[in-house]
Amino acid sequence: MNNFPFARIDLSALRHNLKKVRQLAPQSQVMSVIKADAYGHGVAQVAAALSDSDAFAVARLDEAIQLRKLGFEQRIVILEGVHSLQQMQLAAEFALCPVIHQQAHVNWLRHPSANRIPFVWLMLETGMHRLGLSASVIRELIAALIQVFPDKVGLMSHFANSDLRDDPRNASQLDVIKDLAEETELPICVANSAAVLNLPDSHHDWVRPGLMLYGISPFADQSGLDLGLQPAMQLQSVLIATQQLQKGDQVGYGGEWVAVHSCRMGVVSIGYGDGFSRHLTNRGQVVIRETLLPVIGRVSMDTICILLDDCPEATTGDQVTLWGTPLLPVEAQAKAAQTIPYELTTVLAGRVTRKVVNG
Ligand SMILES: *Cc1c(COP(=O)(O)O)cnc(C)c1O
Repeated sequence: MNNFPFARIDLSALRHNLKKVRQLAPQSQVMSVIKADAYGHGVAQVAAALSDSDAFAVARLDEAIQLRKLGFEQRIVILEGVHSLQQMQLAAEFALCPVIHQQAHVNWLRHPSANRIPFVWLMLETGMHRLGLSASVIRELIAALIQVFPDKVGLMSHFANSDLRDDPRNASQLDVIKDLAEETELPICVANSAAVLNLPDSHHDWVRPGLMLYGISPFADQSGLDLGLQPAMQLQSVLIATQQLQKGDQVGYGGEWVAVHSCRMGVVSIGYGDGFSRHLTNRGQVVIRETLLPVIGRVSMDTICILLDDCPEATTGDQVTLWGTPLLPVEAQAKAAQTIPYELTTVLAGRVTRKVVNG
C-alpha cells in the first residue's frame, strides 16, 4: 500500500541528466549541486545515483559532513564556506573543500590543522554581489594561498542572470573571470545549470549544475522535457472525497471560490503542510486520469479542493499528480504559484515520503 502523498524519485532520470551535462560540457569536470537535501529529492539516494560526479557541492558545513558520513568519498565543496576557525578545522577533519569568500578565511587556512583540506575555491565577485571577493583582493590572496596550498586552489564565480538568454550582464561577468583566469592559470568553475545549457563559453574546467540534474529547466519559457532532460520527481497523492455543489456554494476557508453552477468537486490529500504552496490557491492545477483540473478555493494544511467538471469519471481513490508529468511539469505549477521550480521541490515537507524508483 502506498502512503499518500509521496514523491516518486527516479534515479535513472538523475543519471540521464548527468549524462546530458557531460554531453553539453565534454571538456569539463562536473560538480553536482545537491544542497538542501538535493533540492528536496533526498540527498542520500541522489548522491548515490550521481556517484559518477567528479565532486559534490552543498551549501553548508553540516550538509557536507552528513554526506561524508554517508560514505561518499568524492570531493565535497561547501558553497557558503565556513564561518569560524573551528568550522575550518572540522572541514579539514572531514576532508571538505570550503569556498573562500572572506579575507578571514585565508587566515584560518594558515592554521596547521587546516592543511588536510584537499582543495579551496576562491569566490570572485563579478556582478552577483552576494558572496565574493573583488579581483584585486583575490590577486593578493592567491599569492599568499598558493604558498600554503600549492595546486589546491581554484577560482569560482556565480552568474546572477544566466537564466536570461542574451543578457549582456552574463558576458560582462565572464569577462572579469577570464581576465583573472588568464593571469593566474587556476582552474575555473562558474557554470550553473542555465550556463551549462546556454553559455558554453562559461564551461571552463568545472561546471556546477544543480537544477538541471533534477530534470528541471532554469528558463521561464521552456520545461526540462523541452531541453532533453528527464524530470526526476513526480509528486502524487490521492482523491479522498468528492462532493456535489449547488450554484452559490462556497469552497474552503474564506469562501474564496463560489460555484457559479452546480458541479462536482474533489478533495486531494495534500496541503501547505506538505509544502504544496498556499500561493496555488485558485491558481494551481492537478492531473487525474490524464486530465488537467483546477485547484479551487484556498490550499489548506492537509488538503486541496479541485473542480472535477472536466473529468466526470474521477472517483475516490484515484491517483492525483501534483507535478512531474508532461501535462503538468513542475515548471508550470511554479509559474502558477508565481515562484520558481527550485522552491516547489525544495520546500517539500519531510512527511511526504520519497519513493525511490529506477526507471
Ligand atoms: C545553488 C547553486 C548552484 C546551482 O545552481 P542551479 O541553478 O541549480 O544549477 C551553483 N552555484 C552556487 C554558488 C549555488 O548556490
